[in-house]
Amino acid sequence: MSDFEGLRALVTGGASGIGRATAELLAERGAQVAVLDLDPSSVEKPLLAYRADVTDDASVRTAVAAAVTDLGGLDVLVNNAGIGAQGTVEDNEDEEWRRVLDVNVLGVVRTARAALPHLRVSAHAAIVNTCSIAATAGLPRRALYSASKGAVLSLTLAMAADHVREGIRVNCVNPGTADTPWIGRLLDAVDDPVAERAALEARQPTGRLVTPAEVAGAIAYLASPLSGATTGTALAVDGGVQGL
Ligand code: NAD
Repeated sequence: MSDFEGLRALVTGGASGIGRATAELLAERGAQVAVLDLDPSSVEKPLLAYRADVTDDASVRTAVAAAVTDLGGLDVLVNNAGIGAQGTVEDNEDEEWRRVLDVNVLGVVRTARAALPHLRVSAHAAIVNTCSIAATAGLPRRALYSASKGAVLSLTLAMAADHVREGIRVNCVNPGTADTPWIGRLLDAVDDPVAERAALEARQPTGRLVTPAEVAGAIAYLASPLSGATTGTALAVDGGVQGL
């Protein structure tokens, strides 16, 4: 299939996990794809790679400008870079709140700000934000992470309203627990990772974790002309744990 033939896409956090799977899927389907990441050293052709930190406005602007020049324009922005945090409101100090909100929320704002002038002149412009079921699920010990993803959900709806008349669609995906290096790191930190993984899988109605490719499939749908009349929505990719 070639749903993305002629389209140019930028994926933040595209060196690992969901972002990597998304960049690879879009490229397989015919897009030219640029990855923006803190550490893009593992990114291989045909993907283009740019080093940037989404908490640093100047580095985002420089990387987006370079990617747009190399791609010859921009049609699709996937705001996927994100970090986790655990704990209740009593567990994380202000500094940790600022750090996570800086990546997960302001990271989306900075990349969107740099990309919007280019998306505005695209004939098929779409932004897809990687949100989370944490935005609406009320997960225990995820106060900061949930607040950050709640902000991404609200931002998605607001941006959809702001840019629909410019021909730019804005949607998000809400993954459940997806089997990425991130989850691998969390499991590695507990005493018995094998038992913890089994317990995690047992909590899923499907009996297994979501795959990065399944989240990538939802992102690709929302980025493609197949979803041309869809904007301001959140698509759950959670194996039935919780819809929006
Ligand atoms: P991951 O850790 O495998 O990949 C995240 C990528 O983002 C990495 O390549 C990392 O280098 C990059 N990154 C982190 N901070 C950055 C920064 N400041 N600037 C640029 N790049 C940065 O994680 P993942 O599981 O693939 O998560 C991707 C997204 O999916 C995140 O937004 C996360 O919140 C969301 N998500 C993940 C899950 C899950 O279960 N894995 C569930 C719901 C939502």
